[in-house]
Amino acid sequence: LLHRAVYLDSVHELAQLPPDQGIEVAIAGRSNAGKSSLLNRLCRQNHLARTSRTPGRTRQLVFFRLDESRHLVDLPGYGYAKVGGALKKHWHGLIQSYLDRRQSLIGLVVLMDIRHPLKPQDIELIEWAGARGLALHLVLTKADKLGRGKQKEALIKVRNRVDERVGVQVFSATSGQGLETLEACMANWFGV
Ligand code: GDP
Repeated sequence: LLHRAVYLDSVHELAQLPPDQGIEVAIAGRSNAGKSSLLNRLCRQNHLARTSRTPGRTRQLVFFRLDESRHLVDLPGYGYAKVGGALKKHWHGLIQSYLDRRQSLIGLVVLMDIRHPLKPQDIELIEWAGARGLALHLVLTKADKLGRGKQKEALIKVRNRVDERVGVQVFSATSGQGLETLEACMANWFGV
C-alpha cells in the first residue's frame, strides 16, 4: 500500500482540505527530526518527500494518496523558529484546526531524534493526541547515530514517559532499522 503513495496536494487553507473521508494518518516531528527521510524510506520512493535544507520553512499540510480511501499527511516540522514557544503558537490555525477536527484522522506518528527525545513541544503534542483519543506511535529517528546500548536507554526513557497503549520504536532511515515495525503499525492503522 505505502509503496503506491503518490503526492496529492499541499494545503495551506482549511477550504482546500480534501474531503474528510476514509482514513488518514499524520506524521509530525520537530524540524530536522528526519521526517522526509522516513517518509521516503517507508514509501520506498527517494523523492516523495523532499529532504529540505531549510527546515521550518513550510507551513502546509502535504497529502499523499495511498488509495481512494487512505491518505498519509505530512505536517510541517515544528520547533525550529527562533521565536520558539508553545506548539499552539508555532503551528498556526490551519494545523490546529486540522488536528482538532479532522474525522478521518485516526493516528499520529511523532518523530523524535533519538539523541534528543521529548522536547517540550513533543510532549505537548503527545499529550494533546492522547487527550483527543488518537492512536499514537512514537519513532526515535536516526538510531544509527547511537550504539545499541544507548538506543535501548532512549527507548526505555520514552517508553516510561508515555501511556502503555502508545507505540514506541527506534528507526533509522539510513540503515532501515525499525522499518518493519513501522510498516506493521501502518498496516494495522490502515487496516490492510
Ligand atoms: P525533516 O526536516 O524532518 O524532514 O528531516 P530530513 O529527513 O530532511 O533529515 C534531516 C537531516 O537528518 C538530513 O541531513 C538527513 O540526511 C539526516 N537524517 C535523516 N534520517 C537519518 C537517519 O536515519 N540517520 C542519519 N544518520 N541521518 C539521518
